[in-house]
Amino acid sequence: MPAIQSVETLVVQLPTRREHRWTGLNEPIGRYLLVKLTDDAGNVGWGEAPALKDWGGEYQRYFGESTATTELVVSRYLSKAIIGVDVRNIVEVHARMDSVLKGYPYAKAAVEFAVYDAAARSLNVPVYTLLGGSVRKRIPVTHSLGLISVADAEAEAAKVVSEGIKTIKIKIGVDPKRDVEVVRAVRSAVGSKAEICVDANEGYETAGLAIQTLRKMEQYDLKYAEQLVMGIEKLAQVAAAVDVPVMADESAWNAHDVIQIVERKAAQIVSIYTTKPGGLYRAMEVAAVARAAGLICNVNGSVETGVGNRANVHLAAAAPAVTLSCVVPVSTNAVDLDGRSGGIYYTDDLLKQSMTFNDGAIEVPDGPGFGIDVDEAKVDKYRISN
Ligand SMILES: [Mg+2]
Repeated sequence: MPAIQSVETLVVQLPTRREHRWTGLNEPIGRYLLVKLTDDAGNVGWGEAPALKDWGGEYQRYFGESTATTELVVSRYLSKAIIGVDVRNIVEVHARMDSVLKGYPYAKAAVEFAVYDAAARSLNVPVYTLLGGSVRKRIPVTHSLGLISVADAEAEAAKVVSEGIKTIKIKIGVDPKRDVEVVRAVRSAVGSKAEICVDANEGYETAGLAIQTLRKMEQYDLKYAEQLVMGIEKLAQVAAAVDVPVMADESAWNAHDVIQIVERKAAQIVSIYTTKPGGLYRAMEVAAVARAAGLICNVNGSVETGVGNRANVHLAAAAPAVTLSCVVPVSTNAVDLDGRSGGIYYTDDLLKQSMTFNDGAIEVPDGPGFGIDVDEAKVDKYRISN
């Protein structure tokens, strides 16, 4: 039995292609905790906590985590709790992490990704095989336009669509007038070549304002509208009033939240993260509840570096409920960038090979573990003190 032997933590900061913000986010992306786990058979796995202190659940549920909190939680509590556990016994890893410290799903996810990576390498299979197999070999990518100017949004949308992107997500929730204008501009820039969705990150203060604003946007053909307001109750009011399907993100942290969403009829779509529920095993539980209730899903995230994005790709490959294009980065090293922006938020990355992006989709890597190795020289290059 390959037993977990060591769990190391370090912090990196990847350089960003442009500032990427959304409603409520006031800190830079790309400053994240990495976890390197080794078992006594020599298998190595890597994970990441893309924790943002400004990112949490509705009404301050599931508090923000940060590089400081995740490093403390992993090094002081989680690593000690799992030393000696069979690396392939994922449920035991979760039980021990949950018994030593409640909450902190991003810290737990980082450790769990590293466990899955090492476990799959020990069995010489891809991580998605441990999740039950793959229903998709290609993950269509939604490109996210952060809170940028209308002119910049228009230009970036046209550029990424010319690179093959087929779905654009527009961050809204600031000012209804600006929000309607940016949707109009992006639709006129991409025509019928791309689907458009919007994400308000709880930005509208009332359900009425969200409903009014969405009605003005519907003429530009929205695929879905994400988390217009804070709270399952208000989201349900919006969902009942508009035709465009509503997606829950901040309201849908874990499987229990999805049960509440189903009970309140608050959304038709759920945004699954590998991190919000505390790892891939838990994310598959979220997907199972959604599927049982007839909700559809995408995989969404926190603009991970390649290290954590590998987990996104394997979840999207494995979960049958995930039928939508996913808001995951196209993790690309500087040498392979070639002026591209589609799904790209950083000017370099941390993997030995860039992810393969073809006709708007990431090809799921099928090697052992997460299928693409971490480049430790790159990790050293972008390492910072916490
Ligand atoms: Mg969102």
